[in-house]
Amino acid sequence: MTNNIDSFRAAELAVLGEIWSSPTLWPTMRTLCDDCNGRFVASDDERRAAAFIRDTLAQYGLSDAHTEEFAVNGWKRGAASLSVNGHALTCIGLPGTPPATLQAPVVHLGDGEPADFTRVGEQAKGRIALVRGKGSHRLEKYARAHAAGCVAFLFSSTEYGCLPPTGSLSFGGSPATLPGVGIAYETFLRLERMMEGQEVVAGLDVQSEVFPATGLNVIADIPGSSPELGTLMACAHYDGHDIAQGAIDNASGTAAVMEAARALMKVRDQLKLNVRVALWSGEEVGMIGSAAYANAHRADLEQVKLVFNCDIVGNPGVFFIGLSGYDTERAAEFMRGLAGKEHDVNVVSGTTIPYSDHFSFNMKGVAALMAATGSPKHPNMGPHTYGDTLDKVDLRALRSSTAYTARVLLHLAHDPAPLPARHATVEEVQESLRKAGYEELLKAQGRWEF
Ligand SMILES: [Zn+2]
Repeated sequence: MTNNIDSFRAAELAVLGEIWSSPTLWPTMRTLCDDCNGRFVASDDERRAAAFIRDTLAQYGLSDAHTEEFAVNGWKRGAASLSVNGHALTCIGLPGTPPATLQAPVVHLGDGEPADFTRVGEQAKGRIALVRGKGSHRLEKYARAHAAGCVAFLFSSTEYGCLPPTGSLSFGGSPATLPGVGIAYETFLRLERMMEGQEVVAGLDVQSEVFPATGLNVIADIPGSSPELGTLMACAHYDGHDIAQGAIDNASGTAAVMEAARALMKVRDQLKLNVRVALWSGEEVGMIGSAAYANAHRADLEQVKLVFNCDIVGNPGVFFIGLSGYDTERAAEFMRGLAGKEHDVNVVSGTTIPYSDHFSFNMKGVAALMAATGSPKHPNMGPHTYGDTLDKVDLRALRSSTAYTARVLLHLAHDPAPLPARHATVEEVQESLRKAGYEELLKAQGRWEF
């Protein structure tokens, strides 16, 4: 027994040493960002990244490294312009926006929360919605603007830096119908000043192209010695947006998962459960890759005990883990214990985060978590803007995120005791989504699959 414990501890230290002195973590980030750009789904950059990830995992010794194709709406950005009172203001099309040329009065909808729409009432109809990206998710504000009869959607960042945000307008593969553009926070503030005490009419022109296409997921395995005990899934989306390198969101998560896999391969005799490694595409246009996988591999999902999804893990700050699914508190408690009292890891169970790829598995009843780093002390300077570049990634934070991810996977693949006893039933999944207040939204987005 003592011997076993010692050899496990030695394996754990070996994993940490591999990651801390890694010769591959930063080069992987450079390849993903500098050679493959934003890796927008169905682009040449995405194809190049998929081949790199597949070949690298095979080189690390993982089994059956391969790509899996899924259907997705491709999207090509066109020109976009916004003119107000004879002034040309910078804006960019939001992925999936239909092309449009229109002129209409602007209505200020604050943060686009339900109370803002109630305050404005019928006034929103026929107007261009001006909304700031604070509080609820962009897609929730967008759905409200659509329901209120607005004719276009101006979506503002909340941070200075003259960085108009991008971000998909569609979910579940159905094309968006309300035109939408992103504007910088400074543009939002200027519009706000222009609107003081007077009606402002804006001219909006946005060009874009939506076309049928395919995306590529990358899948590989680390076989365990007792596969009947189940599978852990370690995953991240590697696709990003067309306007930047998608370094924080989410080359960071991709590199963390690839690196954790490399380190785990060095101690694979300690792994009883299988570890399936998955790098998704199409997350940024509605979690299309992970949803396609979850649908195509329903039988395999029976074996999956936990999905560990890294999305944005290269920022300094607290490592946040949000777990959802049936019976996840023991796993949460275990992860807190592993982090130790002094460690900056915040593990929460019973959360519902309907964005990012873990949710594709939550919907099927599988316990899944989202891991992300950040803190108000270190403002997020990038995701979904031109600012999401490699130089913003904090290598120390990325190493630390990767190390913790690999430790959790190693422990749980070695001893599955803290893992949930079973999956959630369809009824339990629906109940938890209702409780979290997401039923209406998921239905509006065509994501309520029950
Ligand atoms: Zn992301």
